[in-house]
Amino acid sequence: MILLDRVSKSYSSESEPALERISLHVEPKEFVIIIGASGAGKSTLLKLLTREEKPSSGKIIVGGIDYDKLKDKDIPLLRRKIGTVFQDFKLLPNKNVFENVAFALEIVGMSNREINHTVPRVLDIVGLRGKEKRMPLELSGGERQRVAIARAVVRQPKILIADEPTGNLDPKHAWDVIKVLEKINRYGTTVILTTHNIEIVNKLKRRVVTIKDGKIVSDRANAEYHES
Ligand code: ADP
Repeated sequence: MILLDRVSKSYSSESEPALERISLHVEPKEFVIIIGASGAGKSTLLKLLTREEKPSSGKIIVGGIDYDKLKDKDIPLLRRKIGTVFQDFKLLPNKNVFENVAFALEIVGMSNREINHTVPRVLDIVGLRGKEKRMPLELSGGERQRVAIARAVVRQPKILIADEPTGNLDPKHAWDVIKVLEKINRYGTTVILTTHNIEIVNKLKRRVVTIKDGKIVSDRANAEYHES
């Protein structure tokens, strides 16, 4: 469960707040799309969830963790509950597909035996079995993003945050990536997706939260949009 109660965030006293009294409740296993123009506050909202930024006021509780009580030493544990993927993939260029995903397990001390068992299962989910030895540069953009998703979910986070994951992709590859997000959601992970792509929003027919000038201006289930 994600709970934001009247959360505001100001980066400086001179500028308008990036977020102003945002209240949002996301149930476990929900799929929520966040839309809004550039500068609306979407990334700030996601950074508050991952604790890259702290709110100026308001309350945040994620998966039972009250962020007011969160100590710095607990942040790695929090980040294990939240997987993240970004527009620019952020893969390690000198590691192949298998190694990119395995790395997320090595850093938490998983044994080679477990890694060799776990990574193929996740690559299966994202449709990349058989491409284990490919280097990132030998993959299409859509495949690279699916490696990034595999890496984000391999430790079975409760929440997957996907910040414009299709921003660099053509429509076919974009939809392949969205289908993988839907599959991961079906397996029980909460998905928070930001996108500028209205076609994707309309095809998904999920809950859509619209942010404008740091405020939530609409929050609708099964929403579709028509460009006016
Ligand atoms: P979006 O993701 O919707 O494009 P952001 O959350 O990045 O919006 O930005 C919301 C507002 O906060 C913008 O006015 C932006 O300039 C400002 N902002 C974002 N990050 C910072 C930062 N690190 N320092 C100062 N201002 C920031």
